Amino acid sequence: MALDKNIAVLLGGVGGAKLASGLIEALPPERLTFIVNTGDDFWHLGLKICPDLDTLMYTLAGLVNPDRGWGVIDDTTAALDSLARHYQVEPWFRLGDKDLATHLLRTHWLRQGRSLTEVTTCLAGRLSLRAAILPMCDAEVPTMVDTLERGELGFQEYFVKYAWAPVIRAIRHQNCESARLPQPVREALEDADIVLIAPSNPWLSLAPILAIPGLRDLLQRAAAPVVAVTPIIAGEAVKGPTAKIMRELGLEVCAREVASFYGDILDGFVDDRRNEPFAIQGLRTIQLNTLMKDQRDKVALARATLDWIGSWAL
Ligand code: GDP
Repeated sequence: MALDKNIAVLLGGVGGAKLASGLIEALPPERLTFIVNTGDDFWHLGLKICPDLDTLMYTLAGLVNPDRGWGVIDDTTAALDSLARHYQVEPWFRLGDKDLATHLLRTHWLRQGRSLTEVTTCLAGRLSLRAAILPMCDAEVPTMVDTLERGELGFQEYFVKYAWAPVIRAIRHQNCESARLPQPVREALEDADIVLIAPSNPWLSLAPILAIPGLRDLLQRAAAPVVAVTPIIAGEAVKGPTAKIMRELGLEVCAREVASFYGDILDGFVDDRRNEPFAIQGLRTIQLNTLMKDQRDKVALARATLDWIGSWAL
């Protein structure tokens, strides 16, 4: 297996973190760089919240709530309960007490003038993580969701407050034209021997990353193979709104549409063995078990994916 290869992984939250925890067990962590969506980030009660970065950090640090796949294990909600009981602040966005520690420290460091990249590296370092964890950019590039029922919503209003019930008409990455690709992200992609696109939501988690100016070009020019893993299994998403969004955008819910969405940046696609096989010219495909129910599945998928790419005569 590719133990001496540098691997860069583009990912969102829960689906991406599952593959990440397989990769971290399959490879030396120092070989891995995770480039994480920050389109979901927002300010809430004065705190900077970065849900996808936190999901990945908690997962790799063994702190994640295993039932939800996000938040901290055995967390409590005393702070939110107090806000609701004493100050009538509606607790629509759940922040556990232990989770608050991350948001407090991140906000404190950002207020001192450090970039999100620096702050994330410091947080990951304090959690003793050895893989590199990088936000896709330092600028705030909030994902805005235009909905039929409620007009344009901030991502967390759409996702959490309205529980992704509104019908999506369009998705916009606010401010993305002026965002700069951070140097560490550029270097990680240039130095990568393999680039993986995790089985995250293509429209909500990967599109914001691919919208950062220069990133798509870098992937297109890269000598390294770029390989995506399907988030669609047997005509459905494993979790979350991916399939619902595809229907609302007028797409068929199938892996081929996901591969087409990534388009010419892809060299390979890991499809699920439960899916109808498809062929796209110039795209290598393999069918594996991509359903990651436990840690064994995650490591097996990580290994099988890397072995497959390693078998290409490049
Ligand atoms: P979020 O930001 O927390 O919503 O998470 P992501 O964007 O990273 O992941 C959501 C996507 O992950 C959904 O489309 C799911 O179908 C996909 N997903 C979650 N678990 C699995 C899994 O075990 N296998 C595969 N193939 N996809 C998964």
